[in-house]
Amino acid sequence: MGLGKSAAVVIGNFPLGESDSVVTFFSRDFGKIRGVAKSARRMPSKFGAALELLTLGELVFFDTGRSDLVRIDHFDIVRPFAAVRDDLQRLGETAWSAECIGRLTAERDPQRALYGLLVRILRSVEAGVPPRRAAVVFGVRCVDALGHRLRLDVCVTCGRRPAPGRDGIAVDVEAGGVVCAACATDDLPRVAPSTVTAFSRLRTLAWDEAVRVRLGTAEAELRALLDHHVSRLIGQPTRTTRFLREVARAPAGRS
Ligand SMILES: [Zn+2]
Repeated sequence: MGLGKSAAVVIGNFPLGESDSVVTFFSRDFGKIRGVAKSARRMPSKFGAALELLTLGELVFFDTGRSDLVRIDHFDIVRPFAAVRDDLQRLGETAWSAECIGRLTAERDPQRALYGLLVRILRSVEAGVPPRRAAVVFGVRCVDALGHRLRLDVCVTCGRRPAPGRDGIAVDVEAGGVVCAACATDDLPRVAPSTVTAFSRLRTLAWDEAVRVRLGTAEAELRALLDHHVSRLIGQPTRTTRFLREVARAPAGRS
């Protein structure tokens, strides 16, 4: 394949040996790409701070064809998105979006819509949109873009319009949508009817309108439901949600 070049966002980075790093990018033109950045942890390094998580840059890599890992030749910062990393909640919510993309896409599978969503959430959070709300808007679009759109209008088991039970409306992400009280089993998560309404509404709005919607109590329910959905698709809990739970438990002022 030889030399490749694309705009890309750093979605993962771990040390390799004494001074190298293995970096995962989500690129506009090639989808997910993993590569070795030689001497990235040596000081000074030609990569500088460019390989920090969630940095957007112009990636140049060389694919030898002999390994899944490419050789990272250059990564020049286009937008550092430093502001998303200097607050733990902003970092946690945007890293969750990177984890969704990283774990739900295959390598070298270009997904332009997902790339666009990742850049959008980073721009929005940097511009001051509340991070959890931005993550909800991202999550709704991400599962749709990956082909896992939930049916919200009728019960996926019997086809009737679900009348909410006393404890809300059940959602069966594996069956593909909401379930009426008669068909629902006890183990399914429940959300308020207003949360289902907010979910539908977020799909119809453009990104910039959607991130301005005040979701109230629906925000936490939607965030939990989306994480439940993504976790089921991955087959295990998301790492970043565990991180966010720890951030929430940490004593105030110690972030
Ligand atoms: Zn039913």
